[in-house]
Amino acid sequence: MHKDLEKILYTEKEIEEIVSRVAERINKDYEGQHLVLVCVLKGSVMFFADLARKLTVDCRLDFIAASSYGKSTQSSGNVKITKDITADISGKHVLIVEDILDTGNTLSYIKEYLSGFSALSVKLCALFDKPDRRKKPITADYSGETIDDLFIVGYGLDYDEQYRNLPYVGVLKPEIYQ
Ligand code: 5GP
Ligand code: MG
Repeated sequence: MHKDLEKILYTEKEIEEIVSRVAERINKDYEGQHLVLVCVLKGSVMFFADLARKLTVDCRLDFIAASSYGKSTQSSGNVKITKDITADISGKHVLIVEDILDTGNTLSYIKEYLSGFSALSVKLCALFDKPDRRKKPITADYSGETIDDLFIVGYGLDYDEQYRNLPYVGVLKPEIYQ
């Protein structure tokens, strides 16, 4: 385990099982359809890559980035698109793939933004969900695990751009960010 972590919350194997479960539901719901999978950079990069490889539905992969946390562990509520998708999503089914649905500020902004291009549908998939922290009325159509109000890192998730490459998800020691 990385020295800055208090504990591991999900091992590589547990994450794999969660991703498989989510993929199974998506495969069933979108069977025979074509999907545009939109990765919300950078946090969902590992989840996106693993999920995409478990999908049996035809899909196109695209990427979007929005400003979120800097060095703070709190979302500012000030969201802006910093990297746009390149696919034409009009008439397409879109699935936004995000690491964590927390306050909902980021995802409601992205969902609203992507809903402005006449897509057939725009749905949300989040690996983790922290429903207790929600500030916007938004729910994930697909979510992996519901977690408590803990700040987690690894498997794409960072603190100050570190720890994204850890293959597991863990809880940071409070002294690292206090
Ligand atoms: P929201 O706008 O929903 O508050 O923030 C969502 C984003 O905040 C997530 O996509 C993620 O990047 C970041 N975030 C929320 N909770 C955590 C967490 O526990 N750890 C890390 N590393 N990032 C988080
Ligand atoms: Mg994110």
